[in-house]
Amino acid sequence: MGLAALFFPKHCMICEHIIEHRSSHLCVSCASSLYLSTYEYNRIHPMHLQFAPQVVLEVAYSPFINSPYAAQLIQVLHALKYKKQLFAAKVLCALASPQLSAFFERHNFDIIVPVPSHFLKKIKRGYNPAEVLAHEIAKEQGIALGAKLLSQPKRKAIQALNNKHQRTNIQPGTFRAKISQKQKKLHILLIDDVCTTGATMAACYWALKKQGVEKVSFLSLFFTPLEYEVKATRDP
Ligand SMILES: [Zn+2]
Repeated sequence: MGLAALFFPKHCMICEHIIEHRSSHLCVSCASSLYLSTYEYNRIHPMHLQFAPQVVLEVAYSPFINSPYAAQLIQVLHALKYKKQLFAAKVLCALASPQLSAFFERHNFDIIVPVPSHFLKKIKRGYNPAEVLAHEIAKEQGIALGAKLLSQPKRKAIQALNNKHQRTNIQPGTFRAKISQKQKKLHILLIDDVCTTGATMAACYWALKKQGVEKVSFLSLFFTPLEYEVKATRDP
């Protein structure tokens, strides 16, 4: 153990035990307990199935699945979402690296577009977690980032629907797309940090489609299946 590690020990961001490798943010035990969904290219991801048939995505994928057994995952997600620990995006992308690489090898995306947040929310928080993630993934995969293609001029107002597939809906006009003639031909990969009902993703999808975008896919770092809905991670 080096002197720095002796005097300034580094703690695991989940269990807070001291970790030996200063380059890591998680201890070996916590890192190995995070549940990753394997990338099976010949099967449709459950998240994709949940959106169909309302939204016709080219492909949808999420490397981390939230479940009642994944409390550690929620802690890392909260570090990114609420504790201004932006490095959590790097930690999560590194953990899901084999799955993400397989996903990006299999599909061709032209541009990565983060799900935007309302500017007041972004000012209050200081950043948009989806944008931090999109930035990290775009850099890792060598794909262009289009952080200004979508914006959220209105605050989200959620309407409850009596529909067992999609129980919430976001008011039309909440998201706005600014797409050039040339960009309509691009395959856009929308990126968000968490997806539960898919209502936010669907609202962004329709904003892009309204502008004539031909191909839209979706990647969410976390997916909470409706049957495992965890209040703390709920995002519309
Ligand atoms: Zn730990």
